[in-house]
Amino acid sequence: MSRPLIIEGLPGQPPSSIELSCEEAAGRRARSTTLAPTDSDPKLREHCGVVAIHNHPEASRQAYLALYALQHRGQESAGIATADGAHLSNIKGMGLVSEIFTDDVLERLRGHLAIGHTRYSTAGASSWHNAQPVYRHAGGMPFAVGHNGNLTNTAALADEAGMLPGTFGSDSDLLAELVARRLEGSGRAGDLADAVCEVLPSLAGAFSLVICDRDRLIGVRDPHGFRPLSLGRLGDDGWVLASETPALDIAGAIWVRDVDPGEVVVIDGDGPASRHPWPAGAVEPRLCLFEFVYLARPDSRLYGQELQGARVRMGELLARSAPAAADLVIGVPDSGIPAAEGFARRSGIPYATGLVRNRYIGRTFITPGQSDRVQGVRRKLNPLRGVIEGKVLAVVDDSIVRGTTTAAMVGMLREAGAREVHLRISSPPYRWPCYYGLDTGTRAQLIAANLSVSEVEEYVGADSLAYLGLDDLKEATGAPLAGFCDACLTGDYPTEVPVAVGRPLALPVP
Ligand code: AMP
Repeated sequence: MSRPLIIEGLPGQPPSSIELSCEEAAGRRARSTTLAPTDSDPKLREHCGVVAIHNHPEASRQAYLALYALQHRGQESAGIATADGAHLSNIKGMGLVSEIFTDDVLERLRGHLAIGHTRYSTAGASSWHNAQPVYRHAGGMPFAVGHNGNLTNTAALADEAGMLPGTFGSDSDLLAELVARRLEGSGRAGDLADAVCEVLPSLAGAFSLVICDRDRLIGVRDPHGFRPLSLGRLGDDGWVLASETPALDIAGAIWVRDVDPGEVVVIDGDGPASRHPWPAGAVEPRLCLFEFVYLARPDSRLYGQELQGARVRMGELLARSAPAAADLVIGVPDSGIPAAEGFARRSGIPYATGLVRNRYIGRTFITPGQSDRVQGVRRKLNPLRGVIEGKVLAVVDDSIVRGTTTAAMVGMLREAGAREVHLRISSPPYRWPCYYGLDTGTRAQLIAANLSVSEVEEYVGADSLAYLGLDDLKEATGAPLAGFCDACLTGDYPTEVPVAVGRPLALPVP
């Protein structure tokens, strides 16, 4: 079986999507595996990363590099659309950025302008049909859209537009359809920015968007700015938009500023110009706090703070509020390491590497038949017996969400001879599902929604368990007075959420 690429708008190709075998496209080995996570992967799905490049002779290669730096935000599918003033071409497929965009595929994406997307499905099925950028042809003009986030009013939007349920693949698809209808309805070919600005106020939820037509780029951040989006300068007159600042770094761009919540940036030959389609009262910054805890890279800068430092401070404050009398502090790779460093520094307890992570395990790992959850975790993490045997450990991780990985990891440490395991978590209990771009499943799957802290302690098999407090977490960000969305920790959703958030269900304690 071959892996399809979706190719749209390439000069010399029919305007509709065509499927191309991966071997044909890239001369590569076919893959017959499903790239979506299996039930045996207990981890949550992440969301998406977006990039946009304006005015670079090899825009597709710059977008590729930038997407490479955003691979952690989604490993299910990726795509790049490019434009050269006359044509807009779009290629996307399932898999990692490096698997889809080989040299010869990039060669086919010509132009000075590009948008790119890396996806993990948060809304819509996990299939190549929903890979992005979404491509549309409307009002005599092609355009493409990349979306990071999640719309929370899709049913109402579809209803208003007279669309039947099931006629759009994802919230991003619906959004593109609404823009296309506006373009067609206006009869003003070429007014993509106008059409986008007319549609935006009707959308609810989280959306950091990159949109392009044949010669313009548009960047959008929703009025709460749930998801990040930064603007950078590329050489003398090039521009980059990206979900995280390391994507600017790798593309050789210099960070200029973050796109403001509620801002639309239109970039053409004259450079960026801002529009503000929402009334001032609708704009209320609520950047996702979990970006600081786990999602974004440690070398990302959010609210002007490098996240590595913020995460070290989370560990320091955790050591202050929940000290542990331990022989050693170890961190759970990779995301627990900076907080473990901070915990060790503040408590004066030596820090050691106690768990080794297999760097070659991605989310695409397919379980060979049935395996228990300890085995599942052991594929990713293995304890260093020589370090931990006979020791009382303070084990620092950034979060417990479903509890399955943590329980297996604690079991593994004990098996490897740890005398005591004192678990310290550098964020508050994760109790509420995210509706803004992170697939956390239902409340029933969130362990802290269902069990008290001491019950979670028992469930994961730790000798003690303590979490960082919300105020300490905000202090650790280095920008405590900036606006945050902390809905996953508090249940305080800044917008209406699409389903009633039910009462916690009791989980069995193993
Ligand atoms: P669990 O015990 O199954 O809740 O897993 C906890 C581990 O999942 C921690 O090491 C976290 O770093 C990690 N984690 C937190 N959020 C996510 C996410 N969105 N995707 C994958 N892993 C995550």
